[in-house]
Amino acid sequence: MTQHRKLSGLVVAATHNKGKLAELKDLLEPKGIELVSAGALGLPEPEETGDTFVANALIKARAAAETAQLPALSDDSGLCVAGLDGAPGIYSARWAPDGNFAAAMARIEAELKARGAVGPWRGWFVSALAIAWPDGHVETFEGRVDGDLVFPPRGTRGFGYDPCFLPDGYTLTFGEMTAEEKHGLPADGSLALSHRARAFQALARACLP
Ligand code: IMP
Repeated sequence: MTQHRKLSGLVVAATHNKGKLAELKDLLEPKGIELVSAGALGLPEPEETGDTFVANALIKARAAAETAQLPALSDDSGLCVAGLDGAPGIYSARWAPDGNFAAAMARIEAELKARGAVGPWRGWFVSALAIAWPDGHVETFEGRVDGDLVFPPRGTRGFGYDPCFLPDGYTLTFGEMTAEEKHGLPADGSLALSHRARAFQALARACLP
């Protein structure tokens, strides 16, 4: 059996994104883990040069752990579209110029139509979480949720690509769900819905006290 290392004490959240920091705090603080953000420590944001979600999460976690000399936790995520060979994938944020996700979703629809891809258009969100310690030890976790891409996008909740993603088994898009419906961790330990919540569940089982 793989021996995982437990997280404890003060941990750097290797993110400059306030939304992600708030989600990480909700999960970790009840377990006695105190989070300080990379932004608050003035750490630089490394360039994400990896070609997978895990590789990019590791780049961010390792850089923060080395500089801060503390364990560091990072997240890298995105939307993959089957009919576009997995794009936008690790480039999900870059497909939205100036954070314009309406444009990014319109681009997905236009490129699917240009390729003549027939519906239902399938896609999946991925979240990779990485923890790095200053001595070089690392742990990584991945969560994934599959669904259909729907156009026009529906709903004003959530962020990013949420309005065009209809998870399998549901009638509401992520953009129409409450945060609790999308990200909540079921009290009975059953599988959470969102990719990030699923990655959190795997991390919690392995690395939380
Ligand atoms: P990151 O900050 O490099 O991880 O970029 C992730 C990008 O993927 C975000 O900017 C969003 O565009 C997209 N993304 C990741 N998770 C979600 C989600 O839960 N809903 C909608 N979009 C997401």
